[in-house]
Amino acid sequence: MNSGPPLSRRGFLATSSAAMGVVAIDGAQASDSEKLAIEGGPKAVVAPAPKLVRWGAPEREQLDAMIGQNSLFYWKGPRTTLFLERFRKVCPLPHAMSCSSGTAALHIAVAAAGIAPGDEVITSPITDVGTVIGVLYQQAVPVFADLGSDTYNLDPADVERKITPKTRAIIAVHLAGNPCDLNALKAIADRHKLILIEDCAQAWGARYKGRPIGTVGDVACFSLQNSKQVTCGDGGVVASADAAIGPRLQPFGDKGMDRVKGGGLFELFATNYRMSEPQAAVAAAQMERVETIAEKRSRLGSILNDELADVAAVAPPAARAEDRCSYWFYMMRIRPDALRCSRTEFVKALAAEGAPVAEGYIPVPLYGNPIFQNHGFFAGRWPVKEMGLTEMDYSKVSCPEAEAILKTCFRLTIHEAMGEPYVRSLTAAVRKVARRYAV
Ligand SMILES: *Cc1c(COP(=O)(O)O)cnc(C)c1O
Repeated sequence: MNSGPPLSRRGFLATSSAAMGVVAIDGAQASDSEKLAIEGGPKAVVAPAPKLVRWGAPEREQLDAMIGQNSLFYWKGPRTTLFLERFRKVCPLPHAMSCSSGTAALHIAVAAAGIAPGDEVITSPITDVGTVIGVLYQQAVPVFADLGSDTYNLDPADVERKITPKTRAIIAVHLAGNPCDLNALKAIADRHKLILIEDCAQAWGARYKGRPIGTVGDVACFSLQNSKQVTCGDGGVVASADAAIGPRLQPFGDKGMDRVKGGGLFELFATNYRMSEPQAAVAAAQMERVETIAEKRSRLGSILNDELADVAAVAPPAARAEDRCSYWFYMMRIRPDALRCSRTEFVKALAAEGAPVAEGYIPVPLYGNPIFQNHGFFAGRWPVKEMGLTEMDYSKVSCPEAEAILKTCFRLTIHEAMGEPYVRSLTAAVRKVARRYAV
């Protein structure tokens, strides 16, 4: 196998560990490579970050076909029809409405579910604000429950504690593509007769115990915004198998016009959240990419989880082996007690090693934002509070675990263009920085 000259022990260690993408820890040479890049040592990640190519011939083909049409309107549009057909292969639900964003999908879901003024909707404080915009526009009240320390998803026990006679729904956010504990949330929803809405905006291609994400709850909401695993620039889709909610998704995305029933009379009040054919053309092509993207991201994320499991200074995210997390990003936490440096110093050192890393996620839990603290949603006022339909005071809300997560988390970029050796070099970088700053 090895035709070269015999290797010394140190030489063997250096070559074999370099080949494995692991930093050597033996002797003088090793201590050189142990020197952090931020202190003038060699970088742990030498390869440039692989470039992500997100669209190509399939998207061009759909756009060309779209140009040949004489209408770009969504209703019965060939691109929209194809998009929804392909979406149903990703998320097999009979009723689906394409729409302008994930925020729109969630608003449509809340409206179609009949959430009324003053009703309470329990959700996560660490999410995109789009999760709760529709709740607030329907004059309902977001109630924030705390999260699991390593899943960053709703803690079912705290969800149950937050239930009151006004609770009508739960919005389960699958953060970064990691499925929530849906069996537990579904059991709570059934026990209290609540609607379970799945916010799958970050979870394209994820699976819960083998089931496509979005198929356990009553309504599934997806985003096609530019940063998500698949995209058409901006867009979304909302879907349901529920016989009451399902048929209302289309009119609630289309100014209340029920294009199936027809008639032209407005029986529902809604805004215009339609997606047009140019977006649907790109979205239709992107649907064919979901499975390979999710499979690859899941594999890369598992490598990070496995290789970082024994690093005392950091806490990798928890993903259940029977699920598929589609890692929109890879978020982990530092363990402040196990480190002699701040998160900022840790992340700076990691970035200097060549790792694509960002400190934190959102700056504060949703309730910590000025708009919540001031209850000033509608021209500085909040009608449901003035009307006595809620006593919610966001300045008194606290979700300690969510707050701790945001103070200790950092994110590595992982995506489908990255190879396993590159991702292993990221783990080497984290291990190296962790060793340097470990207490
Ligand atoms: C992106 C996102 C949304 C909103 O989607 P948009 O298309 O940006 O409106 C909602 N929820 C989560 C969890 C998201 O990540």
